[in-house]
Amino acid sequence: MSSSSKKNNLTPNEAPVQFMDTTFRDAHQSHLATRLKLEDMLPIAEKIDQAGYAFIEMWGGATFDSAVRYLKEDPWERIRQLKKVMPNTPFQMLLRGQNLVGYRHYADDVVERFIDRAILNGMNVLRIFDALNDLRNLKTSFRATMKYGGKVQGAFCYTVSQFHNNDLFVDLAKRLEDMGSDSICVKDMAGLLSPYNAFDLIRKLKAEITVPIHLHTHDTSGMAVATYVKAIEAGVDVIDTAISSMASGTSQPPVETLVKILEGEPRDPKLEMTPLTEIADYFTVVRKKYSAFESDYTGVDPRVLTYQIPGGMTSNLALQLSEQQALDRMKEVLDEVPRVREDFGFPPLVTPASQIVGTQATLNVLTGERYKVITSETSNYLKGLYGKPVGPINEEIQKKAIGDGVLVTCRPADLIEPEMDQAKKELEEALGKAVDNVEDVLTYVLFPKVALDFFNHKGQAVEEKPSDDVSDGIGQAPLIAPSEFHVKIHGETFDVKVGGVGHPGEGGRPYFIYINGHLEEVMVESLMEVMPSAEGRIESHAGGRSIRPKVANDGDVTTPMPGAVVNVKVKLGEKVKAGAVILIIEAMKMQSEVHTAIDGVVKAIHVSEGDRVNPDEVLVEVRSA
Ligand code: MN
Repeated sequence: MSSSSKKNNLTPNEAPVQFMDTTFRDAHQSHLATRLKLEDMLPIAEKIDQAGYAFIEMWGGATFDSAVRYLKEDPWERIRQLKKVMPNTPFQMLLRGQNLVGYRHYADDVVERFIDRAILNGMNVLRIFDALNDLRNLKTSFRATMKYGGKVQGAFCYTVSQFHNNDLFVDLAKRLEDMGSDSICVKDMAGLLSPYNAFDLIRKLKAEITVPIHLHTHDTSGMAVATYVKAIEAGVDVIDTAISSMASGTSQPPVETLVKILEGEPRDPKLEMTPLTEIADYFTVVRKKYSAFESDYTGVDPRVLTYQIPGGMTSNLALQLSEQQALDRMKEVLDEVPRVREDFGFPPLVTPASQIVGTQATLNVLTGERYKVITSETSNYLKGLYGKPVGPINEEIQKKAIGDGVLVTCRPADLIEPEMDQAKKELEEALGKAVDNVEDVLTYVLFPKVALDFFNHKGQAVEEKPSDDVSDGIGQAPLIAPSEFHVKIHGETFDVKVGGVGHPGEGGRPYFIYINGHLEEVMVESLMEVMPSAEGRIESHAGGRSIRPKVANDGDVTTPMPGAVVNVKVKLGEKVKAGAVILIIEAMKMQSEVHTAIDGVVKAIHVSEGDRVNPDEVLVEVRSA
């Protein structure tokens, strides 16, 4: 980092441009709601490994959550399986600093173990960022990555506001280099970086930074190819692209386009087109399987430049609003997002800040009153538990959100006690057996409820395989038509297949139904009940039909959006005051408090923890005393 080595960077970069392929991570996170399964990666993995990429991004970001929550896949196993068939190209992952791949800050011991296991399983480069660019939140993950032999790629989030400019970004990059980064990434998660500003920013970075500079952007506004070309002219070392059939729109620009643009030029990467074409053909077919997860907002969407909302966030908001039959209020929510962002001190709109701001903006619109309902995450954010944004926070709203609570000024994770031992105990208790695999404990710490669901599924798949006896039954019994169908509930599609029918017994006749490939046993008393029973079982996975009364009274407490009950805060007969917290609801991966609008007594409780709930249903009845 001596000044003489820095001067070398002022000579033009003549090295071939390097590419990182994002198809296994950001591309399907952007286009297919992160649903790409390992089984659809493995057949093409070897070809991608040999295509000449410098790095392959295949883990982290939302892939961990999605694997456990929706795909019922062990995310740790994904690294191992891919490493077997992709031994040549370094693996890279996206890590949200102290948030790892989750949505809150975890204790240092969790961060350390998580990174240890990721590297042990085959991760090579960790792209580490903090949503607020608060570098205190990167300290532990940097240290752990170095300790366990991984490469640190320090990333800062690029965003646009009256408080952000290229000098601030260069300063951030310098500090990231001083903290030990092996490379620096400009993370333009929303696709806001214009070609000419990219040129200016990259040129300034190359003048000040010794380690390689990576550029990550999204093609949402249609500018990204031009942005990369100007960044290449300014000397950027590595750019992120996806294979063409998974590229463009909210994803990265297509690799083939950039390869062709650079052909014969001084920085020609000399990647062969034939294998790239084969990979593109493969994903043209595979992508169709996931069409249910494609967003309505595909193609070029210049609104991103107006609203400065990442593409993934737009499609998320659209999905949430359509669940509420409120898609017509999209424009209001898009207008509210920048206002909430300003109240919050202009955080870059990236996970988890994008979810916190997006959910709060949605609530502000749907409840008809700004900050009438404040999510727990909003109040934690305003307390300083996520760190410090670059802009000032709206003090009036801060006061409303945290009341007499204390503002946090230290590194937020300093306030978190070690979590691993407690989590292991909890998990062992929940599963009723010893858990020796630290990866399972980590999965549980990150997503407790989702992880338990996942472990129970795994257990069933092994223990409840149909016995030979049952297989005989399948052979004898008539199959029900249709035996295979898709059920769509709240935008989530379930593959349902009737696998077979067992021998009738005391409790009825067992029917074996596969939901998303996982075996469920359903006991039914007669054939006539087969369809409703199967439906009931599916519903219990994904929704639950409403058996609760409709809201009709001022004291009827409901949820502002579809979600799950985390906590019932009141007891029958309890006296409550207007504004008191009645329930905690989890929706859109956020927890929100639900309050009573009136003073009174709790007359009825229609929910318990874990129940799925919808707006307009009465969850708790408060009546004036
Ligand atoms: Mn991205």
